[in-house]
Amino acid sequence: MTARLIDGKAFAAQLRGRVATAAAAFTEQAGRKPGLAVVLVGEDPASSVYVRSKGKATLAAGMESFEHRLSADVSEAELIALVDRLNADETVDGILVQLPLPKHIDERAVITRIDPDKDVDGFHPVNAGRLATGLDGLVPCTPLGCLMLLQDIHPHLAGLEAVVIGRSNIVGKPMAALLLQQSCTVTTVHSRTRDVMGHVRQADIVVAAVGIPGFVQPEWIKPGATVIDVGINRTGDGLVGDVDPRAVEVAGAITPVPGGVGPMTIAVLMRNTLVAAGRRAGIAVDPAL
Ligand code: NAD
Repeated sequence: MTARLIDGKAFAAQLRGRVATAAAAFTEQAGRKPGLAVVLVGEDPASSVYVRSKGKATLAAGMESFEHRLSADVSEAELIALVDRLNADETVDGILVQLPLPKHIDERAVITRIDPDKDVDGFHPVNAGRLATGLDGLVPCTPLGCLMLLQDIHPHLAGLEAVVIGRSNIVGKPMAALLLQQSCTVTTVHSRTRDVMGHVRQADIVVAAVGIPGFVQPEWIKPGATVIDVGINRTGDGLVGDVDPRAVEVAGAITPVPGGVGPMTIAVLMRNTLVAAGRRAGIAVDPAL
């Protein structure tokens, strides 16, 4: 038996379509478009590509895109002053500072300066706290995209055994919090876990966010399990995930790399921007987002 391939590209396209429809309705009611400001410091090629894609997706969703490109030697104070201006700007609903930042800038100082209600990346500790305590906030895009794909396959996640591999603030921790919120029994495994394989073997749902090409072996996977591969690793063989592709022979459903989780991240960023705009303006947005 081979696994069902989870088509993140198609799912993301549908989500972007729903966001565009809801953005048009927002614009009609608010008299202005939802706005996303993206800040890029320096000229890291991967970051430049991400920022360009985010700008294009924002315009395609019928939203306003504000791009701020700062030179690599900008001071932390200048960057924070820009964040303050964006916080105060009524036309800006979402603020995203592209990471990583140059070494001389303290990322935490910048992220915690963003108004939590405009923090569409969901990295502010206030939003992490809201997620942990079940309050409405803004949730990091990649794990929220993973949850959407999982819910499409498992409309009832309650009671399932979920193993999240990785504990980063960007993916692993918020992913575990989201699955717990859905009443899964959640185990987070990480670099210091004694028996990663033993945990993964028990899992109905495996989310791999490790950053090691092909890390998860097919024989670790319980037959029929759903596997979400967050990994994006550039290798000599091109882009590969954190799960050995032969896992397709064991899993019940699995995300391919590329074309699985990857396309979801920007689609959810669009969704988060619209949600932030709706909350700020007191305008109800499509709950199906
Ligand atoms: P990270 O490096 O911050 O975290 C990796 C985690 O893996 C750590 O928590 C670590 O404890 C764990 N780990 C490392 N070695 C391990 C081992 N031997 N056994 C078990 N756990 C181990 O990475 P991240 O930012 O969470 O990203 C993870 C992967 O997801 C990367 O490949 C990254 O490129 C990718 N990613 C993709 C998207 C997307 O849009 N699809 C977004 C963010 C990250």
